[in-house]
Amino acid sequence: MDLDEFAARLRRATDIVFFTGAGISTESGIPDFRSPGGKWSRMRPVYYDEFVSSEEARVQAWQRKKESYQLYKDVTPNIGHTSIGDLEKRGKLLGLITQNIDGLHSRGGVSDEKIVELHGSDRTVVCLGCGKLFDPDEVLASLGETFTSPRCDACDGLLKTGTISFGQAMPQAAMSQAQIWSEAAEIFIVVGSSLVVQPAASFPVIAKQAGALLAIVNREPTHIEPLADYSHQGEIGEFFRTLNPLLADA
Ligand code: NAD
Repeated sequence: MDLDEFAARLRRATDIVFFTGAGISTESGIPDFRSPGGKWSRMRPVYYDEFVSSEEARVQAWQRKKESYQLYKDVTPNIGHTSIGDLEKRGKLLGLITQNIDGLHSRGGVSDEKIVELHGSDRTVVCLGCGKLFDPDEVLASLGETFTSPRCDACDGLLKTGTISFGQAMPQAAMSQAQIWSEAAEIFIVVGSSLVVQPAASFPVIAKQAGALLAIVNREPTHIEPLADYSHQGEIGEFFRTLNPLLADA
């Protein structure tokens, strides 16, 4: 299927589901994980069991949060984020499933009830003991140059950002909603994900098996490319700059 045909399908559709990864935010200045120079080519992640069992690992994780949180606050949404927000305004967005933790979809105009953040969010901090929520601004401001890991003021439990670490259970409500949207999608569009992180990456396959038209927009091919009805291998910003005028009267 070529771009004109894909755009025609989008113009007629009402139940579009997007599935986004770190690639949609690189043009806002947030590095992804797996591109050359990406985060995991530079540093090893702190696993959940290490966070729970080791003060050294917690301090390392919070140190990194201090850096990434500042980065996420300084960046702004790009045409990828705002184009999805525009489709919601036209009543075409069933839902948005994201692996990202940067909050840019929300700032790009997508309503919170239309967003499932599979890997959680940096916009909240949670106590692992009692579940109390904290404002990340306040927690991070309390950490000086050198610090011990922050604790809950109610139960002295460990505080952790609302992101899902490697080795941590996936959030059940988010997984269920993502499953429902994937099965109901008329058109399912993957944007900027290498699709190597499971179980998140199974949703495009679920959507395709349930009858959705599957589109993939990514710089390089993913392992499910043969399933795609439409694919664009190139830059995400360039893709939306070409697509949006074709949707103008939708
Ligand atoms: P990934 O790094 O594995 O894959 C990103 C993909 O996007 C790559 O294939 C890359 O080539 C492509 N890409 C990058 N910039 C692009 C552009 N401008 N145009 C087209 N393609 C582009 O990321 P993933 O699939 O999301 O999975 C890894 C994990 O990374 C997720 O769990 C996510 O939580 C986490 N993560 C999130 C952020 C964020 O919130 N912005 C940043 C880094 C990592």
